[in-house]
Amino acid sequence: MLNRRNFMKLGLGACLLPAVGVSRAEAVVSEEMYVFGTLVGVDVLSRNTDAARAAIADVSHRFTQQNRDWHAWKPGALGDLNRALAAGRTHEAAPDLLPLLHQARELARASGGLFNPAIGRLVGLWGFHHDTLPVGAPPHAAAVAELVAAAPSMDDLVFGGRRVGSRNPHVQIDLGGHAKGVALNQALDRLAALGHGNALVNLGGNLAVSGSHGDRPWHIGIRHPQGEGAIASLAVSGRMAVVTSGTYERYRQDGDKRYPHIIDPRSGQPAMHVVSATVLHPDAARADVAATALVVAGSTAWPEVARKLGVNDVMIVDEAGRVQLTPGMAARVHFAEPPASVKTVEIA
Ligand code: AMP
Ligand code: MG
Repeated sequence: MLNRRNFMKLGLGACLLPAVGVSRAEAVVSEEMYVFGTLVGVDVLSRNTDAARAAIADVSHRFTQQNRDWHAWKPGALGDLNRALAAGRTHEAAPDLLPLLHQARELARASGGLFNPAIGRLVGLWGFHHDTLPVGAPPHAAAVAELVAAAPSMDDLVFGGRRVGSRNPHVQIDLGGHAKGVALNQALDRLAALGHGNALVNLGGNLAVSGSHGDRPWHIGIRHPQGEGAIASLAVSGRMAVVTSGTYERYRQDGDKRYPHIIDPRSGQPAMHVVSATVLHPDAARADVAATALVVAGSTAWPEVARKLGVNDVMIVDEAGRVQLTPGMAARVHFAEPPASVKTVEIA
């Protein structure tokens, strides 16, 4: 069973189950930090505690740098680029930002525009470019309609080597739906390069593992989108990511109405019906993008979007607590409590 107290203490959407089955010489070295606006946990299975701690410190340092360079609204490399694009200027993108922009453009296309990191202005208009959650009435319909009509897209970007411009001054890039996945991939790569091929990185419930937890897989929980603790658990090993997007994570509260932070670029309105989408895929960046896109796609269109994004293992929970799963996911997850309903859905 999931260690609920630890889970609650961490406030994470996924967590480690109690350690068993590790050979005596090996131990899990764990560190926690606060970065990307969330609690981050890194666990490394190692015989050398000092080396593991040094590797985690290295990764932690990189997280801090990535958070600054890729931040959607605070000063940094992405902020500099966004300012230039808004002013109609080209800008030399920071070296660690450029590959994200290219990848985000490819994945945005593959998602049919449901994942659209060029809608930063809409995200900001709904009040999500602050550390604190927004409260009160939604933005004026006319302001939303104007930004939807401007149709900012990653395809508006013009790349000339490292210089980036935009044909559309309404483009404002927000990598909030993608950057954590990239950071997860880079963290596991870095840990492996430092000799730690058995690791688990948890960025606020977005999680990626490499190798194993000794003689057993890593056991993880998927946060319940509507309740406490975990809705389900699963075992993962090798290189694998389990990323969850949830409308419960950040939202605008207006009386008893909640407007979630994931915005449908077609309407400019928050995506309300899918409350969480979990994607299992070896590439954490793709999983991250897919999870966001599937929340936007909704409870009927998600299989088609998953197919286009090349993800096969998916779990969707809707506002009524109904669960839909692909066969691959159904074979792996164990539910803590039986959900309101469970349906297996083929993607292709
Ligand atoms: P995630 O938690 O990965 O689902 O990412 C959600 C974040 O991505 C939001 O807080 C926004 O910063 C950003 N975002 C919101 N809607 C979209 C969208 N349709 N496409 C891409 N990014 C989005
Ligand atoms: Mg995402």
